[in-house]
Amino acid sequence: MIMAVSCQGSLPFLNESVDRGVLIENENLKCDPRITMNILFHICCAPCAIYPLSRLQEEGFAVQGYFYNPNIHPYLEYQKRLKTLQEFSTRIGLSVSYDEGDDLDEFLVRVAGKGTGRCEQCYRMRLDAAAAEAVKNGAGLFTSSLLYSKYQKHDLIRGVAKEMAWEHGIEFYYEDFRAGWREGIMESKAMGLYRQQYCGCIYSERERFQKSSGKQHDTGADPAEEREGTIKKGKK
Ligand code: SF4
Repeated sequence: MIMAVSCQGSLPFLNESVDRGVLIENENLKCDPRITMNILFHICCAPCAIYPLSRLQEEGFAVQGYFYNPNIHPYLEYQKRLKTLQEFSTRIGLSVSYDEGDDLDEFLVRVAGKGTGRCEQCYRMRLDAAAAEAVKNGAGLFTSSLLYSKYQKHDLIRGVAKEMAWEHGIEFYYEDFRAGWREGIMESKAMGLYRQQYCGCIYSERERFQKSSGKQHDTGADPAEEREGTIKKGKK
């Protein structure tokens, strides 16, 4: 867990992109650059994981995937996304743990009646679990594929993740993965992955249809196929 902090001097990218979640008492610990750092990678779905995963691997992390998304409804949709990730991770050789705790009730209690505030509760629930899993696995860092979507509330995710890092005494790795938006979409299509049509919860599923009928909605995520129509040439 200490490694990420003690490596700051020798791995310059950390200075720019790691949001420190804790103050480490022993700042004099020296990093051995030959040691690979473990990172817990929270994955919301396979298509959104592609680009962030490539970046994490480029940076030399040993990545452990983690699927915990009680926000995905209905159950058949949840199963589809989970199976897609299982197939994807098998194809590329990524180790992923699946947390399928029966947390539907808790999720609904947290988000019901929250209006536009429901996404914060959703992020809190998932990132809290991700940070706890990172601690359990002995990973000094965690991050999330939620940072990839142009339609999520990016700054809110970053803020919540930092808070969770503080609470669990680990580090949060921040990077604006939206830079690889187009690249990720192209790759997911090339791999023939299932691409969902809405963010996850029943509210976002309803908004998918409201949007297509011209009604306003407040969801931070758009359907995968609609996203494509909004893509402009080049990276953001
Ligand atoms: S719209 Fe997406 S981020 Fe917001 S609560 Fe629903 S599933 Fe969670």
